[in-house]
Amino acid sequence: MRTTLIRHIKYSRPLIIAGPCSIESRNQFFSTVEALQKIPHIHAIRAGVWKPRTQPDCFEGLGQEALSWFKEIKSKYSLPIITEVADESQVMAALKSEVDGFWIGARSSVNPFLLDSLFNIIARYNPQIPVFIKNPLAPDLKLWIGAVLRAKKAKLENLVLIHRGFAAYPSYANLRSEPQWDLALKMRQQYPELPMLIDPSHMAGSREMILPLSLCAKHYQMDGIFVESHIAPEKALTDREQQLSPKALADVLEQYFQTDEAGEDFSVLADYRSLIDVLDQRLLQVLSERMQVVEKIALIKHRQGISLHQESRFKQMLQQWQGNMDKYSLKEEFLQSLFELIHRESLSRQEAKIINIKD
Ligand code: PEP
Ligand code: MN
Repeated sequence: MRTTLIRHIKYSRPLIIAGPCSIESRNQFFSTVEALQKIPHIHAIRAGVWKPRTQPDCFEGLGQEALSWFKEIKSKYSLPIITEVADESQVMAALKSEVDGFWIGARSSVNPFLLDSLFNIIARYNPQIPVFIKNPLAPDLKLWIGAVLRAKKAKLENLVLIHRGFAAYPSYANLRSEPQWDLALKMRQQYPELPMLIDPSHMAGSREMILPLSLCAKHYQMDGIFVESHIAPEKALTDREQQLSPKALADVLEQYFQTDEAGEDFSVLADYRSLIDVLDQRLLQVLSERMQVVEKIALIKHRQGISLHQESRFKQMLQQWQGNMDKYSLKEEFLQSLFELIHRESLSRQEAKIINIKD
């Protein structure tokens, strides 16, 4: 089954991998895979055995018990299975259970020592085993590239990238993780030979956004989708909001395969609009922080008897703003008007602050 997975990685487009966030019970695992296996587009199963949870005392996966069902699932449904590993003992245990590939999660792909130990042990066993590398949570491509360099150094032969979105603060309007497609596209330019899947589940954090994000992935010519599906998502022990039932996934995939360019454009438009919403939020946050600093300055000016408006400082700041016009590709007149507006508001905040002291 490993060679089937390797063949799919090389030749099946779009490559579709689906399965539960976590294996929770024998019944949940078997019934989910039974239903997924009927969807013609699915090439492999993803299934979490050890779950990295943000907070302790949550369900952390069934571990060895879940692995004990792998061989039976594979022979019954003829689909390769991949799972997440985050230490050497997990690699060894999964190999014993005939796992077909591994994924490295977003919390591990940032850790150099861990990556070296995982990649080396996998390569020692069999360098051909597919390894899927998720992007680290921080939006810094050097980290993701570093993970790939380490995998290549260990001489792993079948690597796949998974774009699962990046952590963002303040959080992205209607998504759990920020897609930052430009970063994903830069990564593709860096490694054009590596397939890149998107993980709309962890990007979305909700069922509703899986289709629009999958269509964006199609628009950006990604190589496929890595998506979560659970037989009864409303009862899932992990990532409940974002898992699709196999039936809902079949509908999403049907639309994904059918949608024409106009449909993709519509999804990308919605995606850009939520990006604008986030950028606007950040703009407001920065303005609010600026006003707080301005008020602190008002108190110092008041204590020192310095006048609130100082022409030389005003001119220096305006020049600084306009000096940035090329760097940020913004027009000189626009920068001037914006700066004057902000400066006027700042002065009026300072005046108000000082009047309040006097009161
Ligand atoms: C997962 O795929 O179940 C998972 C934990 O993803 P990530 O590492 O991207 O958060
Ligand atoms: Mn998950």
